[in-house]
Amino acid sequence: MSLSKRPKSAAGREERVARILAVLDERYPNVTCALHHNDAWQLLVATILSAQCTDERVNKVTPGLFRKYPAIEDFAAARQEELARDIHSTGFFNNKARSVIGAAQTILGEFGGEIPRDLESLLRVPGAARKTANVVLGTAFGIASGVVVDTHVARISGRLDLTRETNAVKIERDLMKALPQEKWIQFSHQIIHFGREICVARKPKCGICPMNEYCYAKDRVPV
Ligand code: SF4
Repeated sequence: MSLSKRPKSAAGREERVARILAVLDERYPNVTCALHHNDAWQLLVATILSAQCTDERVNKVTPGLFRKYPAIEDFAAARQEELARDIHSTGFFNNKARSVIGAAQTILGEFGGEIPRDLESLLRVPGAARKTANVVLGTAFGIASGVVVDTHVARISGRLDLTRETNAVKIERDLMKALPQEKWIQFSHQIIHFGREICVARKPKCGICPMNEYCYAKDRVPV
């Protein structure tokens, strides 16, 4: 079946999604989260720091940060001004410092020092909005609680017609409907790599894109 036109039937749409996922699996078989971490707590901190910041910059900051504050207790006892200085280069440092200290105190005070493994509990941790919670549950624990929607996932899901929404919560809801649950975690990792490598925000590299046949984006360059 050619999929250069939008399929009308549910079966056609399912086949199209299956082919998109197959292309991603072939091209990005073993990708994972780019934020360096050794455990769920470190991933939570790194994800909080990654808001409005590149993963590369976060990865430069976190090794020194985790040496200075090796345990959750160290973050819980940190002075906000000092922590803000330590994470200054990631931007929004006052808010992030407040979130990280609040997260540490909440995890110690309410969850016995363990990172909660369910979305509802994790959303009670300061700094852990839905995207952050999905990152931690998916990458640290392999729990498919939802689909991580970052700037790449939002842009490319629209280009690939998996959603018409622009709000992250609504995009995630559409993706959770369109994708099989066992793909929710890996899809985001793959799309983030795809978005950095090929389907970049400005001037996507459609000429070398393995998804070209399935793409209906207005800014797509046909091959
Ligand atoms: S064809 Fe172009 S716009 Fe469409 S997914 Fe590929 S790179 Fe992105």
